[in-house]
Amino acid sequence: MNTISERLQLILANIQAVKNSGGYPQTVQLLAVSKTQTAATIRQAYDAGQHFFGENYLQEALKKQSQLTDLSIEWHFIGPIQSNKTQPIAQHFSWVHSIDRLKIAQRLNDARPLDLPPLQVCIQINVDSEASKGGVAAHELEDLAAAIKALPHLRLRGLMAIPEPSSEQNKQRAQFHQVRQCYDDLLAKGYTLDTLSIGMSEDYPIAIEQGATIVRIGSALFGARQPKPIAN
Ligand SMILES: *Cc1c(COP(=O)(O)O)cnc(C)c1O
Repeated sequence: MNTISERLQLILANIQAVKNSGGYPQTVQLLAVSKTQTAATIRQAYDAGQHFFGENYLQEALKKQSQLTDLSIEWHFIGPIQSNKTQPIAQHFSWVHSIDRLKIAQRLNDARPLDLPPLQVCIQINVDSEASKGGVAAHELEDLAAAIKALPHLRLRGLMAIPEPSSEQNKQRAQFHQVRQCYDDLLAKGYTLDTLSIGMSEDYPIAIEQGATIVRIGSALFGARQPKPIAN
C-alpha cells in the first residue's frame, strides 16, 4: 500500500508525463478532493506538498477547516450549492467551481466579505444533457457568464464539468472536448478566462489532453472513499 506522499508524487509525475507526451502547453494544477477524508489525512497530504483542496459538503468542510487553521490551504468548493449555504461558502472558500445559476452567483457575491479578494469562480456546465446532474446547459452559458462578469465580488475564471463517467475513452474525450469548445467560445467572445476544471481520478489524462488546467483528484490520491460524508 502506497503512502499519500507516494501517490501524490505518482499523480504529479503522470500529469507531467501526459503534458510532455502531447506537448500540451497549459499549466495543470492538482486539486486534491478531500471529501470524506479526515483532517489528519488532509494534513498528511499538505505535509507532502499539496496545498489546494476541494470539498463537496459544507458542514464537513467547515469542521475540517477549523482543525487545520495553522495550514495555508487554499480551499475550493466543488459540490452542489443550496442557496441557504451561500454565506458560509463565500466566507470560507477561495474558489467555487460549481456555480450553475445566477441566484447562487448573486448570493455568493453579496456574502463575500469585503476584506477578502473576490471569490474565484467557475461555471459548472452540463454537456451530456443528463437532467439529474448539476450544471448549466451550453445554450444558457453565455447569459450566466455575462451576469457573473458584472458581479464585483466574484471573478469568473472558467468552466467546470463532471461528464458522465464512461469506460469508453472516446466518449470521455468527446465530452471533455465539448466543454473545451464552450470555453473557447467564451474566450472568442472576449471573456478573460484561464481555468478549465475537468478530469478526475479515472480520466485526468484525457482531460489534460483536452486542455484541463485543474484536475480534481480524490480516490487516486487518498484511496477509495466511503459512500457518505463523515460529518454533518
Ligand atoms: C468526488 C469528486 C471528484 C473526485 O473524484 P475521484 O474519482 O475520487 O477522483 C472530483 N470532482 C468532484 C466534483 C467530485 O465530487
